[in-house]
Amino acid sequence: MPLNTPIAKLPRMQPTIAKKFSQLGLRTLGDALWYFPFRHEDWRSRATIAELSVGQDVTIAATVVRISSRRAWHRRGTTIIDTTVTDDSEAKLHVVWFNMPFLAKSLHPGDNIFLSGTVSQAKDGRLQMSNPTFERPSDNPLHEKLVPVYRSTDGLSQRQIRLVMKHAVSFAGGVPDVLPSSLCTELNILPLPEALAGIHFPAEPEHARRAVERLKFDELLAWHLHIRSEEQRQQRQRAPIIPFHEPEIRSFVQHLPFTLTNDQRVSAWQILQDMAQPQAMSRLVQGDVGSGKTVVAALVAYNTALSHQQVALVAPTLVLAEQHWKTFKTMLGKHETKIALLTGADASIYSAGSEARVPRAELYAAIHAGTVSVLIGTHAILQPEMKFHALGLVIVDEQQRFGVEQRQTLLGNRDISPHFLSLTATPIPRSFALWLNGILAMSTISTKPPGRLPIQSTVITGPDHHQVDTAIESALNRKEQIYILTPLIEESDSLGVRAATTEHERLTELFAHARVGLLHGGLPAEQRIAILNEFRDHRIDILVSTTVIEVGIDVPNATLMVVEGAERFGLAQLHQLRGRVGRSDKQSTCLFVSDRNDAAIRQRLSKIAATNDGFAVAELDYSERGGGDLYGQRQSGLPTWQLASVGDHELFDRVKTFASSLDSGEHQRYLDHFEERGVYSQFHRE
Ligand code: ADP
Ligand code: MG
Repeated sequence: MPLNTPIAKLPRMQPTIAKKFSQLGLRTLGDALWYFPFRHEDWRSRATIAELSVGQDVTIAATVVRISSRRAWHRRGTTIIDTTVTDDSEAKLHVVWFNMPFLAKSLHPGDNIFLSGTVSQAKDGRLQMSNPTFERPSDNPLHEKLVPVYRSTDGLSQRQIRLVMKHAVSFAGGVPDVLPSSLCTELNILPLPEALAGIHFPAEPEHARRAVERLKFDELLAWHLHIRSEEQRQQRQRAPIIPFHEPEIRSFVQHLPFTLTNDQRVSAWQILQDMAQPQAMSRLVQGDVGSGKTVVAALVAYNTALSHQQVALVAPTLVLAEQHWKTFKTMLGKHETKIALLTGADASIYSAGSEARVPRAELYAAIHAGTVSVLIGTHAILQPEMKFHALGLVIVDEQQRFGVEQRQTLLGNRDISPHFLSLTATPIPRSFALWLNGILAMSTISTKPPGRLPIQSTVITGPDHHQVDTAIESALNRKEQIYILTPLIEESDSLGVRAATTEHERLTELFAHARVGLLHGGLPAEQRIAILNEFRDHRIDILVSTTVIEVGIDVPNATLMVVEGAERFGLAQLHQLRGRVGRSDKQSTCLFVSDRNDAAIRQRLSKIAATNDGFAVAELDYSERGGGDLYGQRQSGLPTWQLASVGDHELFDRVKTFASSLDSGEHQRYLDHFEERGVYSQFHRE
C-alpha cells in the first residue's frame, strides 16, 4: 500500500469520514504525510493542579466537577462556560471557555479530560485556564507520549486523524530525499524520511525539534531558490530606460507641502537609478505605517510620465484607490500630468485642473492612445483587455503578499517589460530583511516624517468603559476624530457586524452631539467609500467599524484609535491598526481594550503599547509565536510557509550558505525536486 493510496480506501474507513479528510485537502496517504501537526501535546509530563503556577503552559489530566453556562453581562452575545475540574492532587481549578456554548452539552461532571493551555490568574486571585484545548483519553488510541495536534474540521476528531497519520508515516521511509545522507550529516540536519516520521510521532521533544528544523530548511531553501530564479528572470527582461529628469523632479519636490525625509529621498533615488537601467527593476519599498510611501510612489510615477511612459498604480482596495486618486490629483495635477481612475464604480480622467467622469470605453481608448500617463485602480486595471500605449512602471501598493507570482500574471511575458515596484505594508524584521537583501532589491523607510509626536498607547483591561469614554469625549472637545475598532465576536458572525452595531448604538446615545458613523464589511463597497469620504471630510466624528478600515487609510485629523477586543489580534496587526492615527503633528492616542481582566493579556498588550517602532513590533510578533501554535502560524504580509517563519534567523544563514554553494545545474535540480514535491504551491496559496 503506497503513499498514493486514497484515504477512502483504507481499511474500515467510512465514506463520511473520508469526505472530511478531503475537505482538509487530504485525499491520499501522501497528502496526509505532508499535513503537519501545529503542535504536540506532551502527555508524559503532566502537572497536577496543586503544582500549577501563573504563566505555565501545561497539560493536566482532570475530572470535571461542575459545569455551567452563562451570558456575559457586559458583552451582549458572549457565552461563558464556567467549569471546575479536579485531579489526583485534589486541588481544584477554574476553567472558562468563551463562545463555545456547545461545550455545555458535551462535557459533564465526572468526565475525564486532558486540558492544555496557559495558566492565568482570575480577578479573585485564584488560578484558572481560559480557552484550553481539551481532549478525552480515548483520543490517543496510539498511546503516544507526544501527541500531535492537527488543524481539523467539524466532525473529524484528532483521534481519526492520528490513525490515518500512523498509516502515512509507515511509508515515510520511501520518500526520496534531494539531499544525500552524507550532505545531511554535513549540514547537521535529519534525513527527510526521519524528519517526516518525527514531525508526526516524535520519540521525544528533541526528535520533533530536529524534524521541524529539517522541514523548515527545505521550505526556506525552496523559497530562496524560487525567489532568486524569479528575480534573475525579471532582470533578464528588457525594460524602457527612464532617465532621471532632474530639474522637473527638483521642482516637484519643492512644490510638496512638506520636506522629504532622508529615507524617502534615498528610496526615491534608488528607484530612479534602477529605472535608468535597461533591465526591468524589481524593488520592494518597505516602511512603517505612516512613513510616507505614497509620495515616493508619486515622485517616481511623475518621473516616468516625463519620459512618456505610463504608470499603473494598483491599490488593494477600492477605498485606497480612491485615496490615491485624491493624493495624486493634488501632487501631480499641478505638473499637468494626466491621471485616470478606474474602479468597479468609477472611471474618471483628471487633466489640467478639471476632472471628468467618462465612459469606460473612453478611458480604455485614452490608455491605449497613451494620453493618460498614470492609471490608478484596483487589480482590475491590469486585465489583459487593458492595452497600454507604453507601460513603463507598475506600482503595487500595500500588498499583503510578496507578490512574485502576482507579478508574473500582471506583467506577462512581453518583449519589453515594465519596471516593477511594490510598497509593502508590513515592516520586515531586520534579520529577515538581511536575508532578503541578497535576493531582492529593497528600500527601507524607517523614519517617520518630522514633527510627529509618538502615539501614546494605553492598555485598558476589564469591563469598565469609563476611561475609553473619557478619551472619546476629550478628542471630541478638541474637534478631532476617532476610530473605534470592534473585533469579530463569533466565527459565525464573520463580519463582526453585531459588535460594531452595538457599540455604534451605545456611542450614539452617549454622545448625542457627535456624529457617529458605522462601517462594516456587510455594506456595499460604494457605501463604504461614501462613509469613509464623510469621515475624511470630517462630516463624521466617530467611526465605529470592523477591521474593514484598510491599512493605509490616511485621515490626519483622526487622533484617537480605540481597539476593542485587542487580545484577539496579532501584535503586528495591532500595530497596523494603530498606524491609522498619528498622521499629523497632533498628539494621537491608541487604546488597546480588552474586556478580560487577565494578567497575561495585559502583559502582552503592554509590550506593544511600549513601542512605536514597527520593526521592533515585527520582532515581538515573531518571537511571540513560541506559545500556542508552535509551528507555522500565518503571518500577514510575509511569505506563507507551512512551518518556517521569519523568526528563523539561524536557519536563514544556513540556507543561504548552502544555496550559494550550488552551481546552476544543482540549483535547477533542487528547484525541480521542490516543484515535484509541491512546495511552491504553498507560497502561492492564500
Ligand atoms: P504610508 O507609508 O503608510 O502609505 P502615507 O504615504 O499615507 O503613509 O503618508 C502618511 C501621511 O504623511 C500623509 O498624510 C502624507 O501626506 C504625510 N507625509 C508623507 N511624507 C511626509 C513628510 N516628509 N513630511 C510630512 N508629512 C509627510
Ligand atoms: Mg500607504
